[in-house]
Amino acid sequence: MLKPEAKSHILDLAPYVPGRAKAEGVAEPVKLSSNECIFGPSQRAIEALTPAPEQLLRYPDPESVDIRKALSDLHGLPLDNLICGAGSDELLTLLIHTYAGPGDEVIHSRYGFMVYPIQTKAAGATAVAVENKDWAADVDGILAAITEKTKLVFIDNPCNPTGAYLPWPEVERLHRALPETVLLVLDAAYAECVTAADYHAGEKLVAQAQNVVMTRTLSKQYALAGLRIGWAYGPDHVIDMLNRVRMPFNINSHGGKAAVAALTDQDHLKAGQSFNAEWREYLTAALAALGLDVVPSQTNFILVGFPDETPYTAEHAYHYLTRMGYLLRWLPGQGLKNHLRLTIGTPDQNRAVVALIQGFLAEGDQIGHNSAGAS
Ligand SMILES: *Cc1c(COP(=O)(O)O)cnc(C)c1O
Repeated sequence: MLKPEAKSHILDLAPYVPGRAKAEGVAEPVKLSSNECIFGPSQRAIEALTPAPEQLLRYPDPESVDIRKALSDLHGLPLDNLICGAGSDELLTLLIHTYAGPGDEVIHSRYGFMVYPIQTKAAGATAVAVENKDWAADVDGILAAITEKTKLVFIDNPCNPTGAYLPWPEVERLHRALPETVLLVLDAAYAECVTAADYHAGEKLVAQAQNVVMTRTLSKQYALAGLRIGWAYGPDHVIDMLNRVRMPFNINSHGGKAAVAALTDQDHLKAGQSFNAEWREYLTAALAALGLDVVPSQTNFILVGFPDETPYTAEHAYHYLTRMGYLLRWLPGQGLKNHLRLTIGTPDQNRAVVALIQGFLAEGDQIGHNSAGAS
């Protein structure tokens, strides 16, 4: 029987694989696989979610003015150059579909956010992966990969899944050498987690250039991943294009109210940032003390390298920890078969995961097999 056929470049596409949320035989696994912020959202944001039936029947503000106003006040950015999206994923996706199509190239780091290559392929364009340098983006490698077909360059800074960051002078150097027709997207999803003094998310460059956009999100340090609120700051012409292609009511009214409440509760954000920095330091030191290869992180997760020898590999550790009810992220499909990515958890979870990994390194994953039935 005949059936409608999707475009050929869509047929080849593999969907985004989210972090695991379930483990067989474990009733309530500890999910450390999706970089969610365990510190939790602002109490004010939670209160803002109280149902208001008369508001539910209305369409939300198509221009998300209240959120953009809160962002404008907080970051000192011009209101008209801000746009909100259903997560920054929506805005990253729209940027690709707006500026690239068949015959065009889009550059991303090999170990970087998978949405860039997935959506590049969905747009029928070619995703060009450049090897990382010291786990962050490699400026010289990216510049060498630029061709006449290049339309966009994506830098996730800090980088997911490595946690590494590119110091600001390097971002400036990249921008100086880029053709003016190439759009540089600075994806700063983890900007609120960064403590490094030589980091900058991108506002300075957006303000003075015509080919730079910065994307941000309330999903990470603001701990509102479930609400899907992201935003971007860009030059007039880019914001204009995004406003033409986005869905008119992309931010729901309740999410919008909670977002404003969270943005105006900076004391809560600061408390979460201290918690994150403290436990990031603990996990980095504790895992390094076990002899593991820890990538220095500026995010709310840590990438950890495991030994090459069976049964002590990342794959064995991943299955062992899953059986013990701890869900981490193993990304062999992205070429990271020797590493696991671990989101910072509660103090108890952080201590427990270190203890489990210590036990695993002592005995390999035999211990997991023996006790699997009991756990
Ligand atoms: C989580 C993440 C995002 C997207 O988050 P949203 O929830 O869609 O705002 C974007 N970029 C990177 C690098 C991320 O890790």
